[in-house]
Amino acid sequence: MKRAEGQEKETVRVDFESRSHNEQFARVVSAVFAARLDPTVEEIEDIKTAVSEAVTNAVIHGYENREGIVHMELTVEGRVFTVVVRDDGVGIPDVKKAMEPLYTSKPGRERSGMGFSFMEAFMDRVTVESEPGKGTTVRMSKQIGNESLL
Ligand code: ATP
Ligand code: MG
Repeated sequence: MKRAEGQEKETVRVDFESRSHNEQFARVVSAVFAARLDPTVEEIEDIKTAVSEAVTNAVIHGYENREGIVHMELTVEGRVFTVVVRDDGVGIPDVKKAMEPLYTSKPGRERSGMGFSFMEAFMDRVTVESEPGKGTTVRMSKQIGNESLL
């Protein structure tokens, strides 16, 4: 039986080198892919911010600015957009602690420890799986179009 149009699950995958300027590439690709759900400008901005934080973390923490591949998988299913950002980097020893607001393993002027907090604020669901020495997988989902019409 043919499923209703727009309900089908669609997935794209992109692998890119761990370079800080690819964060912009990842943001734009995510926005273009999510556009098929006809999001608002605000929803697009939320997705771009969350993707930017996850990819930046993969590059600077996961691969510690060294060579590596960042894997990104984008899915739309029904009204839900999902992005998975994965690295094969150093991993996170304590995920719960890492996700606390203001926690950073690199204190200083550059990092504020708010990346995961932004991801959680801008997306409906964020899960993190990580194994030291193996890498980290961040999965984030957002329902598009659930805003009140009032
Ligand atoms: P900010 O994002 O505000 O610049 P931050 O990156 O330190 O600072 P978060 O993004 O919240 O803050 O991440 C918290 C901590 O989790 C990081 O300092 C780092 O120790 C760890 N972390 C996050 N992502 C990864 C990753 N992909 N691989 C290894 N460690 C990570
Ligand atoms: Mg961060």
